[in-house]
Amino acid sequence: MRITGTMFYYYFVCRRKLWCFCQNIAFENESESVLLGKLLDETAYGREHKHLMIDETVNVDFIRDWKVLHEVKKSKSIEEASIWQVKYYLYFLRQRGIKIEKGILDYPKIKKRQEIFLQEGDAEKIETLLADIQAVIAQEKMPPPIHWKICKSCAYYEYCYV
Ligand code: SF4
Repeated sequence: MRITGTMFYYYFVCRRKLWCFCQNIAFENESESVLLGKLLDETAYGREHKHLMIDETVNVDFIRDWKVLHEVKKSKSIEEASIWQVKYYLYFLRQRGIKIEKGILDYPKIKKRQEIFLQEGDAEKIETLLADIQAVIAQEKMPPPIHWKICKSCAYYEYCYV
């Protein structure tokens, strides 16, 4: 199975969310937080050529001069997931012979940005994570809810708790 950036991100956010998403159980369009994300995406960095689909697998926000990859997020609430999503993009492109200097996580709403590099050991870690993601997706049973503060703004909240 092709592992998309969204799947990589969801793995860090919540295994249940990843599993549901891969089973095509989707409520994303109804979520206020997703709508906000889309609005931000449409208004931020208007001049850039956005959403590059690469090898029919990862959908990168934009790459400036084929040197710096940008991923736009609306908040830093799940920072680890965002960092590893960008590292995955850098890894994915490198595997296909495209060397990107660095990634940048952009948070236009809070006017912050963070540089991300693929460091020693990251490629091995990503390969382990990819195997684990495959294992989560292949599980027969849905993983349990995580009961975390982020659940309240998750598109699956009602599905998990109501
Ligand atoms: S509501 Fe919480 S437990 Fe349910 S999918 Fe979302 S993050 Fe996971």
